[in-house]
Amino acid sequence: MDMAEMSSTQPGQGADAPVEQFDVLVVGAGISGVGGAYHLTQQCAGKTFVVLESQADFGGTWRTHRYPGIRSDSDLHTFGYRFKPWTGTPIATAGEILKYMGEVIEENDLARHIRYNHQISRASWSSEDKLWTIEATDTATGKTSRIQARFLWMCQGYYRHSEGYTPEWPGMDTFKGQLIHPQTWPEGLDLSGKRVLIIGSGATAATIVPALAGKCAHVTMLQRSPTFFITGRNVNELAQMLRELQIPEEWTHEIVRRKILKDQATFTERCFNEPEAVREELLGNARNLLGPDFDVDKHFNPSYRPWRQRIAFVPDADLFTAIRDGHASVVTDEIDSFVPEGIRLKSGDLLQADVIVTATGFHLSVLGDIDFFVDGKPLDFSKTVTYKGAMFTGVPNMAWVFGYFRASWTLRADLIADFVCRLLKHMDERDAQMVVPQLRENELSMARKPWVDPENFNPGYLLRGLHLMPSQGDHEPWLHAQDYWSEKDELPRVDLDDGALTYR
Ligand SMILES: Cc1cc2nc3c(=O)[nH]c(=O)nc-3n(C[C@H](O)[C@H](O)[C@H](O)COP(=O)(O)OP(=O)(O)OC[C@H]3O[C@@H](n4cnc5c(N)ncnc54)[C@H](O)[C@@H]3O)c2cc1C
Repeated sequence: MDMAEMSSTQPGQGADAPVEQFDVLVVGAGISGVGGAYHLTQQCAGKTFVVLESQADFGGTWRTHRYPGIRSDSDLHTFGYRFKPWTGTPIATAGEILKYMGEVIEENDLARHIRYNHQISRASWSSEDKLWTIEATDTATGKTSRIQARFLWMCQGYYRHSEGYTPEWPGMDTFKGQLIHPQTWPEGLDLSGKRVLIIGSGATAATIVPALAGKCAHVTMLQRSPTFFITGRNVNELAQMLRELQIPEEWTHEIVRRKILKDQATFTERCFNEPEAVREELLGNARNLLGPDFDVDKHFNPSYRPWRQRIAFVPDADLFTAIRDGHASVVTDEIDSFVPEGIRLKSGDLLQADVIVTATGFHLSVLGDIDFFVDGKPLDFSKTVTYKGAMFTGVPNMAWVFGYFRASWTLRADLIADFVCRLLKHMDERDAQMVVPQLRENELSMARKPWVDPENFNPGYLLRGLHLMPSQGDHEPWLHAQDYWSEKDELPRVDLDDGALTYR
């Protein structure tokens, strides 16, 4: 289904205005979209494709977030692509990740495929033409353009990039100081001499607290309930050893990835099989770092079992050092209201602050806030059932990259890329222009489950938006397994002709 670019015309754009057509349109130039572009060039060399990105440059998450200390919380050996060795420290800054992605773009001549400042607002599928028509607005000029594509590869992530999620608390408008969400951190903000109060204790708060410690008057982390943290040196000893032995970087990358993944699998298994032993280890570590006088049970012992929410990794225990040194403190209490001088807690205490940072999470964004239509009918994504957590019933020629929670996102981005490329080639072999997942006759009344099991994984942004997400069924291929270990073997072997995917 290779297509010549610049072929047909589209009503409404002027009779002479040609509409560009591509075999594949990739939405987003974050780690998934840039990876998708790479895999297309390697695995589907004959296909034409374009990547549309609303921001002015590549990077996605790593460009959007600019708060102090912004860094990964998983290791870059596995968060990096499988095809490009990571040679830095395991936990990396946003700047280092952007540099790595920039090298991928440069080394593989991908820049010519990416168009920035293109905000996609609408995507319409026509079964008659077997084409998606995309409407995108140039964020610099406000001009709208249309592009057509055979296949949509959704790499738009899972949250709204323009703004973070801030809950409403009573009295917020009375606060005299500055209120900031980490996702829209003001450029050049000087916090020296300021009392900073951070609401939340997820990975973002755990990054900002040590980054500000010693650079402002005091930083306080206010949490409603505690979070588990795991600490470790920000080095990978195996990688260091292999480098000393002058093993080629490609080998080192692969070996270190396998070792990390094996260690993670063992740890995850322990979290499920002996959660209380793991809890004791994590708390014991916090006690060692904070000393006997610190109330670890109150501030670092969550009510949930380990790994039910992502466990934030704290490199070199910097969060704990900041607390031990007195630059930072933790308060575990509930907010009663905002007051002019800070926050009144339910306990009655007052936390005074000049600046309040709401590290309270994201707005889930389903399919990049794009209005989707299939043959003129608005697409209600929540009514669909997922095929392998990558495609959706009734939605033709479209795949979405949704990465792992408990393992690095990019592991799945690479696996889905292989799947999409294999599917595109399979369609060519079958001479098909359209593929759409459809429940088979005996599956129409199959039991449905939510996109993720809230018992198993329940971050706030997902729970708030779960009703908007597709369902899973109760058996393959209608599951969203969130399990790297099964998918790494199953996805490459999935039977594309078992009747769940229908072709035309
Ligand atoms: C602060 C932070 C730290 C994280 N750390 C880790 C980590 O260490 N390890 C891990 O595995 N995961 C981490 N995650 C999860 C992380 O989001 C993913 O791992 C990964 O970066 C997502 O990549 P992506 O390319 O799929 O999506 P994103 O990074 O979200 O990029 C999507 C891109 O699509 C663009 N886009 C969206 N909608 C449209 C539209 N309508 N039109 C045009 N363009 C559009 C966006 O502008 C964006 O550039 C972190 C998330 C955050 C917020």
